[in-house]
Amino acid sequence: MNAILQHDLQSIDQILDQIKQYGLDFLANIDKIPTGQQTTIVNENQLPANGGGTLAALNLFKLEFQKLMVASAGPRYWGFVTGGTTPAAIAGDWLTAVFDQNTQNITGAGDLSAVVELETIRLMLQLFELPQDFHGGFVSGATMSNFTCLGVARQWAGKKAGKDIAREGMINDIVVLSAVPHSSVLKSLSMLGFGSSNIVKVKTIEGREAVDIDDLKEKLEKYKNRSIIVSCSGGTVNSVDFDDFVQIAELKKQYEFWMHIDAAFGGFAACAPSHQHLLKGWDKADSITVDCHKWMNVPYDSAVFFVKKEHNRLQVETFQNSNAPYLGNPEDNFSYLNFLPENSRRFRALPAWFSLIAYGREGFKSIVANNINNAMEFGKWMETAATFELLAPVYLNTVCFKLKENNVLLPEFLNELNSRGKVFMTPSILKGENCIRAAFVNWRTSSLDLQIAQQELITVFQQLSTKV
Ligand SMILES: *Cc1c(COP(=O)(O)O)cnc(C)c1O
Repeated sequence: MNAILQHDLQSIDQILDQIKQYGLDFLANIDKIPTGQQTTIVNENQLPANGGGTLAALNLFKLEFQKLMVASAGPRYWGFVTGGTTPAAIAGDWLTAVFDQNTQNITGAGDLSAVVELETIRLMLQLFELPQDFHGGFVSGATMSNFTCLGVARQWAGKKAGKDIAREGMINDIVVLSAVPHSSVLKSLSMLGFGSSNIVKVKTIEGREAVDIDDLKEKLEKYKNRSIIVSCSGGTVNSVDFDDFVQIAELKKQYEFWMHIDAAFGGFAACAPSHQHLLKGWDKADSITVDCHKWMNVPYDSAVFFVKKEHNRLQVETFQNSNAPYLGNPEDNFSYLNFLPENSRRFRALPAWFSLIAYGREGFKSIVANNINNAMEFGKWMETAATFELLAPVYLNTVCFKLKENNVLLPEFLNELNSRGKVFMTPSILKGENCIRAAFVNWRTSSLDLQIAQQELITVFQQLSTKV
């Protein structure tokens, strides 16, 4: 063994102690660490012939790159839809690295950690009050979850047209219908060979982002001789609108189609008695996407897919390794190796498992309720603020707003706001207007954070008006 590796191996306890202390310092200061950075760094390190060991690497990192680490896991990072990390989730993630399993199998010899992944899927279905007739697994994010679900949908649609797409390649007569698909759904359609521009847009209900059922019905009728995939939204990213899953599922009695729901963060509405009605009927879907690194507050990279067990065979056809023996019954001889896009992968379920066991149903209910309150409170403030205008009612956990006057200054306003590092938000477009969106999914966010953000908004606005 190389001498430095040997030295590191012998001092692993000091190394982990220092890493722990360093991590604790970051977490203890997370509400003071800037939410954004503007430093640019010219990276000039060269590959050393002989390294200096882990603690030397730590020192160099502190010196050069520490300042790039923003408080994206902190309570005032409201850009995109960004969750944080609970203690249980961090514990699970650290152990994922320690155990370093290549999670695939539940029987046989060798690593059997997939048993824990399957249990985690069962627990998540319980959390969401979904039936156990879904099978599922962990992928790196909602994009890959949408990809996985739409990949199985593609195989289903091919079979309907008499083709095994996984073996024979893409066909042209599949129609994908959607009203307001997330960009990652379009990306998945690109990767799957549909072509992102081949989606057929369904009208939305006037003034909303939810599908217009009459228009959907018309399109189902129009394309009824082709294979149809309907991609629904369980929380659009701007106004967080939900398609009506009960009515869409009802149409399945009359038309044959694959029903997919992208519920990347909206799925967590299931944990809020006040909002769970938004998901009514989602149990009828063929496939569902839910992100874990958003509202579940586990570290990146983590999301689940749920696909109805009746489609197991299609799923294995889609993702089997071509040299693997064909699996008779996927339930009997289950391996994730033939069930999702990746082959080798980390023990990705462990942070979620730790979180579910550590905090239980009530823990997640309280995280979700708190964030809904954050959004309601922030939205209410917007309504009374002299200088800002709320652009859509607060349906769940996001707030979209603009400047009441001179909204052309919005990009400059947002730039200044974000550069001050106390709060971070992202730009968006809603109802054709430029706006700022604040999304609340961090378990730490409190009323005090709202007050800090409101003060920032006022200060930046005043600065801007003195400049104009
Ligand atoms: C965030 C998001 C995605 C993409 O998720 P990643 O985890 O970034 O891959 C897809 N759909 C919706 C609705 C989202 O909010």
